[in-house]
Amino acid sequence: MALDQQTLEQLLDTLSRFVHERLIPAEATVDTEDLIPDDIVTGMRDLGLFGLTIPERYEGMGLTTAEEVEVAWTITHAAPAFRSVFGTNVTIGSQGLVIGGTEQQKMTWLPRMARGEVVASFALTEPEAGSDAASLTTRAERQGNGYILNGVKRFITNAPVADVFTVMARTDPQKKGADGISAFIVDASSDGIRLGLPYDKIGQKGARVCDVIFEDCHVPAEALIGGVEGKGFRIAMQVLDRGRLHLAATCCGLADRIIDEALDHALDRRQFGRPIGDFQLVQAMLADSRTEHDSAWAFVRDVARRATAGEPITRLASQAKYLASEMVGRVADRAVQIHGGAGYVNETAVARLYRDVRLYRLYEGTSEIQKLLIARHMMRERRELGSSPGAGR
Ligand SMILES: Cc1cc2nc3c(=O)[nH]c(=O)nc-3n(C[C@H](O)[C@H](O)[C@H](O)COP(=O)(O)OP(=O)(O)OC[C@H]3O[C@@H](n4cnc5c(N)ncnc54)[C@H](O)[C@@H]3O)c2cc1C
Repeated sequence: MALDQQTLEQLLDTLSRFVHERLIPAEATVDTEDLIPDDIVTGMRDLGLFGLTIPERYEGMGLTTAEEVEVAWTITHAAPAFRSVFGTNVTIGSQGLVIGGTEQQKMTWLPRMARGEVVASFALTEPEAGSDAASLTTRAERQGNGYILNGVKRFITNAPVADVFTVMARTDPQKKGADGISAFIVDASSDGIRLGLPYDKIGQKGARVCDVIFEDCHVPAEALIGGVEGKGFRIAMQVLDRGRLHLAATCCGLADRIIDEALDHALDRRQFGRPIGDFQLVQAMLADSRTEHDSAWAFVRDVARRATAGEPITRLASQAKYLASEMVGRVADRAVQIHGGAGYVNETAVARLYRDVRLYRLYEGTSEIQKLLIARHMMRERRELGSSPGAGR
C-alpha cells in the first residue's frame, strides 16, 4: 500500500538526517576499519530499514517501487556500504519469498527479516557460473522428505552475517538451463554449510562478502520456495528486476552526493588567484555530471512509477541499471579530477566513493549483460508485438 505524500516526505527527511548526522561522519572510520559499528546497525533497525519492501502483513513497511527508489536515493548520499547492511533484506534476500513463497514460508521468515532480527542473503553466483547464471551446478538432490545441497556459491553479500539464504540449485540435472533450477530458503545454521573468508574488496569497505559452501547440507522439503521445483531461475530473474532498479536508484543517490562534493571543492579551492570553479573546463565537468545525474534519475523514477502501476519492467530495469551505473562511474571520475591530487587520497570522500561505485557496473549483471538483455528484449518485442516500445510511450 502506498504511503501518503506527507508520510513519505517525513520518512525521507528522517533518513536524510540519519545520513548527515550518523552515516557520513562515520564513513572514514568504516573505510579504514572495514566494519559498520553496531550502534549504526541498531539505528537502521529502529528506523525500519530492514523491512522497507516487505509487505505490511509481514511487519514490513510495504513500500511501492516508486517509494523504494526515493528511499534508496536518499540513503545512498552516504557510502554504499551502509545500505548493504539492510540491502539484501530489502531486495535480493527477501523478494524471492515475497514473489514466490508459500504462506508458511513467508510467515516463518519475512516478519523477522523486516524487524532486522535475521539477515537474508541471495546465493546465485558460482565460481563457474557468473554472467551465465543459468549454467549453475549447485545440486539439490531429493532425499527422503527433503533435499541434499552440494555446491559453492561465490561473492555472496552479507553471507558472513546471514541467518538465511535464498539459494538457487539444480533439482533436475537432465535439464541443463533455467528449467532445472529451483529456489530454496535455507537456514544458515543448517549442518553442511561452511563460509569462505571475507573478501578483501577494493571498495565498499564495511560491506561483507564471502563464498558459501554446501557440503551434504540437508534441507527439509518445506525449504523449496513455493513448493514447486523448476521455478527457481524465473524467481531469481524477477527478484533481479526490482533489485536492478533499486541499484540504479542508489547509483543516482551516490552521484548526487559526489556532485555536491565536487561543487564544494570547485567553489573552495583557489588556483591562479580564483576559485577553480571559475575555469570553464571545470565548469564543463560539473555541468556534465549534473545533467547526466538528472537524466538518469528521471528515467529511474519513471520506470519505478511504471513498476508500481503494474507494467512489465524487465527491459527498463536493465536499462536503468546500465545507464545509472555507468553514469555514476563517470561522475565519480570527474569528481576525482576536480579534486586534483586530493582526489587520490583516501582521506577525501570522493576518493573512497570512486572505489565504491566501481562495483555497480559488475554485480546484479555486468553492463555487458544488461546490454545483451536490453537488445534481446527489443528484438523479442519487435517479433511478438511488432514494436519495441520506448519508455516515453
Ligand atoms: C562485491 C560483490 C558482491 C556480490 N554479491 C552477490 C550476491 O549477493 N549474490 C550473488 O549471487 N552474486 C553476487 N555477486 C556476483 C556478481 O553478480 C557477479 O560477479 C557478476 O554477475 C559477474 O559475474 P562474474 O564475476 O562471474 O564475471 P564473468 O561472468 O566471468 O564476466 C567477466 C567479464 O566477461 C563479460 N562477459 C561475460 N559473458 C559475456 C557475454 N556473453 N557477452 C559479453 N561479455 C560477457 C562480463 O561482462 C565481464 O566483463 C557479487 C559480486 C561482487 C563483486
